[in-house]
Amino acid sequence: MSIQANLKEVLTELPARIRLVAVSKFHPVQALEEAYAAGQRLFGESHVQEMTQKYEILPKDIEWHFIGHLQTNKVKYMAPYVAMIHAIDSYKLLVEVNKQAAKAHRVIPCLLQIHIAQEDTKFGFSFDECKDMLDAGEWRKLNNVSLAGVMGMASNVDDDKQIKREFCSLNTFFKEIKQNYFAESDAFKEISIGMSHDYPLAVESGSTLVRIGSKIFGERNY
Ligand SMILES: *Cc1c(COP(=O)(O)O)cnc(C)c1O
Repeated sequence: MSIQANLKEVLTELPARIRLVAVSKFHPVQALEEAYAAGQRLFGESHVQEMTQKYEILPKDIEWHFIGHLQTNKVKYMAPYVAMIHAIDSYKLLVEVNKQAAKAHRVIPCLLQIHIAQEDTKFGFSFDECKDMLDAGEWRKLNNVSLAGVMGMASNVDDDKQIKREFCSLNTFFKEIKQNYFAESDAFKEISIGMSHDYPLAVESGSTLVRIGSKIFGERNY
């Protein structure tokens, strides 16, 4: 199937309230152009250099979502143009994004990555670590980042019940911190969950942003 046909198939399954981030990492510019021609404007990348190269070549109305693990020393390269950073996994990183966003005269929307999988993946706040950071309150002084919600990845398993449980735990956590820390903030509204193999479950669990790569672009060679 073509990229455009895959994209159409995914989009017909998504309720209108959910935005699709087409994850184009490791795919050539031409693949993104095909999706762009079909109307796709949100693209997700996980390597700063690759995303910046694509940004420079492709039309400027694309929203670039950075979805990968981000090192503080790379933030400066994307601060001028990135539309959203999905994987803020430490306060230190948030501070650096704020600093670079200020230099670029921007406010960058950021999602807090929460570790919801049972697997021992390295990245993301635990629920408690996230609440501790929010309680500390220092983040309120960071005027060049806008906390826009949460992001998570479910365990890479075949057990739908487990995946659903993990997604729902993030939805519950989102509601809790929305009420306790962001009641006044219209910006805090995103739940970024769902990839190619589990997005139907994410849709059922309150996703507002799905991040879908291989189902649209095919397998990656890396
Ligand atoms: C690669 C990636 C995706 C997309 O994965 P697919 O299985 O290709 O849909 C989504 N989220 C993150 C964080 C990724 O790194």
